[in-house]
Amino acid sequence: MALTEARGGYTRAIVFEAAGSPHTSSSPANYQQRLASVAVIERVLLAAPRGFCAGVDMAIKALTWMIQAFDPPVYCYHEIIHNRQVVRRFEQAGVVFVDDIATVPEGRPIMLSAHGSAPEVVQAARDLGGYVVDAVCPLVTKVHHEVKTRAAKGYQIVYVGHEGHEEAVGTMAVAPEAIHRVESARGVAALPEFKEPVAVLAQTTLSHREWEGVLEYTKRRFPDLWQPSISDLCFATTNRQTAMMEIAPASDAVLVIGSANSSNTQSLVDLAAEAGCRRVLRINDADEVPGDLSGTIGVTAGASAPEHVVWEVIDRLAPVYGTQEVTVIDEDEYFPPPRNLRDLLAAVEAAAAVTLGSSPTGRQPLNDRSIDASDLLDRLSPRA
Ligand code: SF4
Repeated sequence: MALTEARGGYTRAIVFEAAGSPHTSSSPANYQQRLASVAVIERVLLAAPRGFCAGVDMAIKALTWMIQAFDPPVYCYHEIIHNRQVVRRFEQAGVVFVDDIATVPEGRPIMLSAHGSAPEVVQAARDLGGYVVDAVCPLVTKVHHEVKTRAAKGYQIVYVGHEGHEEAVGTMAVAPEAIHRVESARGVAALPEFKEPVAVLAQTTLSHREWEGVLEYTKRRFPDLWQPSISDLCFATTNRQTAMMEIAPASDAVLVIGSANSSNTQSLVDLAAEAGCRRVLRINDADEVPGDLSGTIGVTAGASAPEHVVWEVIDRLAPVYGTQEVTVIDEDEYFPPPRNLRDLLAAVEAAAAVTLGSSPTGRQPLNDRSIDASDLLDRLSPRA
């Protein structure tokens, strides 16, 4: 039985459930009427920071500048970021994504993804003779550098990372003979005794929860352990998780926007559940918002999810008391385009001006920092 009721200036649907046997359904008097669910979304708690991080922002802009500068197709090794919508958008604009660098024709421009690539992949891309832009996030480059220098100094490296994740695969390939991937304290316990000194490094998108227990155990197992003075865990992942911890306990359900293969998205899902939220859902877009949500809904987005998807989700939720943004920190990090692409920027300014809707004549120099990556994506034209 469903009623609608005007309350507090809005209309809400109230659903009463019948309790007991089917026979009772013939008589309303036998109903133990109770409020089973109130199918109204009262408010949205919106986490901040959320969505695109500085590394993703840089990679999206860099690939956009490449497709402005070169005739299609531009090739990209691996998905530029872990978001299906973003990848599809670039495919429509003439980018071909490949998982094997050997499938790229000689002389074609290639971008290497934000997750970081194995040294042999970077070399193979260069050997093809085309223009190569490595859009690896600088924070991943830091870990590659640590692997390289520790291995050169004779260390054995305990690397905490997820099996098969592109970042972990690329990082381990820097010094495969010296690195040992683990995901848990049990993995550390299973390592052999090392005669060499031992270092510990991490995949940037681990949560503190994943990292701290393993680190503590690794320190006990290898008392002279070397670890970087600045953590490998990235600020963007940490900030999004901190914001999630603010909204999850106050939410009846939490929606985490992002792709299934996004490590930091999955960490947000796990953390929201740990924070005590009874219902946590990962969704790709507004079409996946379930119809039975009610009360206060927490919303956040992984580092690869565009901002416009966040607002499409909120529009679908249509909270009657509106949306309250919960900000834990102002994040204003900016990563400039990869160095060799900077040299190319002057050449793409005219085309970029057209993409951004301004006239190529009399234009100002392209200011990469001031351009919003989500906005740029929205304006990408499908290839005719
Ligand atoms: S999540 Fe962190 S490490 Fe990954 S691309 Fe973004 S800033 Fe870089």
